[in-house]
Amino acid sequence: MELPIHALRDEIGEAVQQSGRLLLRAPTGSGKSTCVPSMLLESGVEGLIVVVQPRRIAARLLARHVAALRGVKPGGEVGHVVRFENCMSEQTRIVYVTDGVLQRWLQEDADLPGVGAVVFDEFHERRIASDVALARCLDLQESSREDLKLVVMSATLETGGLREYLQPCEVLEADGRVFPVDIKYQAISQGAQRGAQGPRAGLWDHVAAAIKQEVGREDAGHILVFLPGVHEIRRTVELVERAAWSRGWKVCPLYSGLSPKLQDEAVAPHGSPRIIVSTNVAETSLTIDGVCTVIDAGLARVARYDPVRGIDTLMIEKISRASADQRAGRAGRTAPGKCLRLWSENDHGRRVAFELPEIKRVDLAEVLLALKAAGIDDVAKFRWLEAPDAHALEVATQLLHQLGALDVLEEITEQGRAMARFPLHPRYARLLLAGQQHNCVAEAGFIAAAVQSEGVFLRGKGGQKAFSDDSDLTDFAAEWRAFNVARDMRYDPRRCGDYGIMARGARELEKALKQLEQIARRSGLNWRPPRDAEFDQEAVRHAVLAALSDRLAAQLGEATLSCRVVGNRKGKIDAESVAKGADAFVAAEMTEVEGREVSVYLNRCTRISLESLQAQFPEDFSDHDGAVYDESARRVVRRRETRFRDLVLASKEGGEPPLDQAAHLLAQRVVSGELKLNKWDRAVEQWIARLVNLSQWMPEMELPGFSEDDHQMVIEEVCQGAKSYKDIKNRDVLPVLSKWLSGPQKAVLDAYAPTEVKLSNGKSAKVKYKRDAEPWIAMKMQHLYDVTELPKIADGKVKLLVHLLAPNQRPWQVTGDLEGFWERGYPQMKKDLAGRYPKHEWR
Ligand code: ADP
Ligand code: MG
Repeated sequence: MELPIHALRDEIGEAVQQSGRLLLRAPTGSGKSTCVPSMLLESGVEGLIVVVQPRRIAARLLARHVAALRGVKPGGEVGHVVRFENCMSEQTRIVYVTDGVLQRWLQEDADLPGVGAVVFDEFHERRIASDVALARCLDLQESSREDLKLVVMSATLETGGLREYLQPCEVLEADGRVFPVDIKYQAISQGAQRGAQGPRAGLWDHVAAAIKQEVGREDAGHILVFLPGVHEIRRTVELVERAAWSRGWKVCPLYSGLSPKLQDEAVAPHGSPRIIVSTNVAETSLTIDGVCTVIDAGLARVARYDPVRGIDTLMIEKISRASADQRAGRAGRTAPGKCLRLWSENDHGRRVAFELPEIKRVDLAEVLLALKAAGIDDVAKFRWLEAPDAHALEVATQLLHQLGALDVLEEITEQGRAMARFPLHPRYARLLLAGQQHNCVAEAGFIAAAVQSEGVFLRGKGGQKAFSDDSDLTDFAAEWRAFNVARDMRYDPRRCGDYGIMARGARELEKALKQLEQIARRSGLNWRPPRDAEFDQEAVRHAVLAALSDRLAAQLGEATLSCRVVGNRKGKIDAESVAKGADAFVAAEMTEVEGREVSVYLNRCTRISLESLQAQFPEDFSDHDGAVYDESARRVVRRRETRFRDLVLASKEGGEPPLDQAAHLLAQRVVSGELKLNKWDRAVEQWIARLVNLSQWMPEMELPGFSEDDHQMVIEEVCQGAKSYKDIKNRDVLPVLSKWLSGPQKAVLDAYAPTEVKLSNGKSAKVKYKRDAEPWIAMKMQHLYDVTELPKIADGKVKLLVHLLAPNQRPWQVTGDLEGFWERGYPQMKKDLAGRYPKHEWR
């Protein structure tokens, strides 16, 4: 079959041979992934051609397809290597790998010996491992490996200034043949989209209904359905297969963990009409010929890391407009097509244009350690396409430091180097090393493999509970037992299912375990496989603590699942966990998940005894003896606490609180307005206003002023010796205030901010003060007859205002110009009021 990319054959070969760097943009389905590696081979590239894929399933399917195209056996000239699967040989010239595998190879030998070309496919997905690997390959090409050829392929160039980043570089673009796709919006209820009733309840119903609507169409072709995850795919497939209207249609799920046979069936180029229900692997990674209808739920599961709270989040999110367009494009490959979007056009307009690259949203600890191990000390100055957020980098640095991988100078330690050798998050690499120390390497390996996989248990089937034992110290013990049962049953899905075990998960786990065992043994760790009952839980809890001390948690009470976690965080312990009711525990999983509500769940927990915690981290313990305010009793009580870092592990209340702390706590509540002092009255406010204003009017007098802190201090002074609100409620304030100033300062205050002034007609008037306002007197105008000039205070610097009151004491006018008032204001006032108040004197 002639593909658009074939037209570029010569140019591609030339570009790569001449400049060594090529950026190739062509739409999905134009033949990039299947043809470019062969073209490189034929143009004379020597050594191994490594093609980097973001996904395992794509690497595997492409390798098999290309091997078939070239008429060779898989694993011969064309092979693939993904996690748990090494399908290449001496003869291999083209190898499809995942970005994780390339990262490992770079780690093992940064020079990539034997590799002639690296092709980064689907680069627009911007996976963190691809970003980093590309940067390192560019460096490599500019230093010791000038002969290395680099090709970056992407469905779009609009990613992070890629073209400039790669300079000097040849750029080739191809436009594939695309047919028009008719896009229809058909919103389903927000509830189904957002999962208000649990994980996407009802989404599959809506999707099945949409499929039913399309199967009747004459030119539907194959129907490709996009869903966020395996769970949703399974539910939808079940519904559709059961329905009568789907007769004559083959229903094919498509996702990474599926068996190779079913994967092949889903993407097979020929065959009867199919409904393919897929994750976003079919968005750009895989092309399925003959699709004329796309049904898009518009959602994807997105992993993020929140550096502020230090937790992973796994949320179903709305895909970007760019992704939606890629998905729609799948319908127009062979003929005009149709795309049904299960959201509204309005919603579409509000979606983000592109997804955020991984470097901006995931935990950086693993990448950071890999870079440090590769000798890149200043990671901030690394050749990033887009640099990670400085704060996120800081958080990752801290974690590595805590795990002993970096020293105080942020340089990698021996232990850090050892940790970097494991294809694991540094946390779990540390766990394996701690396993060596506590003689439970295999147990640690099991835990590491388990947390990095989907796990052994089917969701919500009670497996965890069924396999756990009252005396267990860790939830992993149950998982271990279940894993052994699954192994005995040879991973038979039906039999495993009866026990709440996910056969597929267990099988994956076994592969991961084997791989870890190999690496652990190679690294000289003493891997001693535990048998059924011998999972050494006592040793495990010590090892786990070394890896997870930043996840130490304690329940808020026996009656609640709510917990406090070190670092001022909160979460909910798994209701089935054996760590429930422990003094403290660590959670291997701390993930924010969207279910009925958004919560942080603490799963896969291990009980920790306070003694062992204290023994391992003596300097992180502190005792606090102090006072706390009891809101309901409105009094201060004494509390003694034991803390691990900032987490309170034990506390006791009772006895006399230290009085200075009591005064401080009470004062805080008064300042915040929660408690009111009855004697904090107008006179007090006046006194403060006089002081504040005068210190501004006459700074030369060097009065102390009255700041927020002073405010708190005075109130604290008032609260001295008190323990409850009752004690302070009616305490005097003015006497405390007057002690605020020395004798001479008081004299200055009384002289220049007097409480009373004499007017020129002999009458006296009270002066009113307000912070940051001009002072004033308030008088009935009859008392002001004969006064034309208002008195001045602050050594003549500040003129008083007068609030003129009508005979009924109501304010009539505010003025600083009495003379003007007598001339212009008074006649009018007299006209208005004299008739009404004839008994008063009017001149
Ligand atoms: P691109 O990488 O540009 O998106 P591909 O090289 O993946 O394009 O696909 C080009 C063509 O190769 C597709 O249209 C499809 O017909 C065929 N193809 C790719 N992978 C497979 C496969 N696993 N099985 C059958 N055909 C395939
Ligand atoms: Mg491709």
